[in-house]
Amino acid sequence: MVPNNPIAKRHRTPLPQWLTNRPRDRRGYPITYVTAIRPDGLPDFTEVDGARRLECIRDGLCGLCGDPLRYWRAVIGGPAVIRLRLTLDPPMHVECAIFAATDRSAGCPFLLKTGTARYSKPAVPGTPERPSRMFLATTRSHQLERDVSDVLARCAAFKNVWEIQDGKLIPLQGAISCP
Ligand SMILES: [Zn+2]
Repeated sequence: MVPNNPIAKRHRTPLPQWLTNRPRDRRGYPITYVTAIRPDGLPDFTEVDGARRLECIRDGLCGLCGDPLRYWRAVIGGPAVIRLRLTLDPPMHVECAIFAATDRSAGCPFLLKTGTARYSKPAVPGTPERPSRMFLATTRSHQLERDVSDVLARCAAFKNVWEIQDGKLIPLQGAISCP
């Protein structure tokens, strides 16, 4: 099904259900479940809603669409996230994550445009805020973990890891080194 909205018309691609169900900003980009909403009511795509982030990690909800995760789930992050299997961002449905990483109509500026500011916090405390490489990995489960200052998602072993390059997923071979 191709929903009748400007993004779908422009890209002529079917949009996943999560995208069609989420509210959109003025440009038509979907506002994810954890996107922070400013006091004036507009979304701030560079910040996450802390309460919703916690809810997603604790209750197993997708960080993009807010629906319950299924058996397989995905995380997106830099080398440290992949090496430590630890992330501040809630895991996502695999199809939601793939869409966000590969389709311009998902509107994720951090993944689609290099050098774009992201959240004010790094994905793993104590690691670089803006990793030079980004990855998408799938795992079967995650657990809530608390460090001294925050709540994180610790993932089970990854089944597959891809590097995200210019909207494409490149299967990763071999070990990942953290810069
Ligand atoms: Zn989802």
